[in-house]
Amino acid sequence: MSDKPTVSVLGTGIMGAAMARNLCRAGLEVRAWNRTRDKAEPLAAEGARITGTPAEAVEGADVVLTMLYDGNTVLEVMREAAPALRRGAAWVQSTTAGSELITDLAAFAREHGLLFYDAPVLGTKEPAEAGRLTVLAAGPAQGRAAVTPVFDAVGAKTLWTGEDGAAGSASRLKLVANSWVLAVTAATGETLALAKGLGVDPRDFFELIGGGPLDMGYLRAKSGVLLEDRLTPASFAVTTAEKDARLIVAAGRRSGVRLDVAEATAERLARAAAQGHGQEDMAAAYFASFDGKD
Ligand code: NAP
Repeated sequence: MSDKPTVSVLGTGIMGAAMARNLCRAGLEVRAWNRTRDKAEPLAAEGARITGTPAEAVEGADVVLTMLYDGNTVLEVMREAAPALRRGAAWVQSTTAGSELITDLAAFAREHGLLFYDAPVLGTKEPAEAGRLTVLAAGPAQGRAAVTPVFDAVGAKTLWTGEDGAAGSASRLKLVANSWVLAVTAATGETLALAKGLGVDPRDFFELIGGGPLDMGYLRAKSGVLLEDRLTPASFAVTTAEKDARLIVAAGRRSGVRLDVAEATAERLARAAAQGHGQEDMAAAYFASFDGKD
């Protein structure tokens, strides 16, 4: 392997496209595949080779990065890629796949001789575009020389949580962090919906809490998206957030922890999606407070 690993990016949606772009800009050789090829095509201008199949993308690659919808999608796509995977390559699994499928993902890696890195990321579209994600990573020390340039290109910081990707320590931390993200987003939507219902100007609410311990950046960010009607393009879509809320509820249940807020959040997101907001930013969970569109 040369100093700069060859990286295959499987999945160039909101996050994967931004990550692939930063890998190109860091001088890595990038091949990208996406189910909907049109979304990968713009990466060609950055120097990436766009492929028609996952197998073509991973052939001979030093690092395979998966950034797909969920764990089942990852398994499906990796099975398609399987004949061309190079034994000894590193697999950086960054999709938010939760903790349940980690055993299957790690088993796939073992079967195909891949070094498995459980490596979800914290941060949304804008930090992804700026190469300033936080990578939560667990995986063997042996392959770190190959994965470090990848993590450095997509993230501002890598938080190592262990050396055994199969133990899922990074994915478990990611679920904990996302439970906070989703709770804040849901509370933001409900608070603004209540303000609307009660005829309270949201600016009065912000003036009331401004600068105090109840104020926070994420509240401001998600309120801004909603009040300034910037729901599309989404940074984190309603349907993807619902998927994460359900992963959190399921993980809690498996460990004997009841999560009422996450459960209600999943239902609010599902209702917003049914109202037609599925591809909008998750701030659109706000609309679940009303019968109609708003
Ligand atoms: P996205 O834009 O919807 O991308 C999803 C990707 O999965 C697309 O490449 C999509 O392909 C692909 N995909 C979906 N179903 C597929 C299938 N059956 N077969 C093959 N490919 C399939 O979502 P995203 O926001 O980038 O999220 C990607 C992952 O990162 C998710 O696990 C999400 O939870 C996680 N994440 C997101 C954020 C965020 O803020 N957005 C932050 C951290 C982590 P098509 O283009 O063909 O649909």
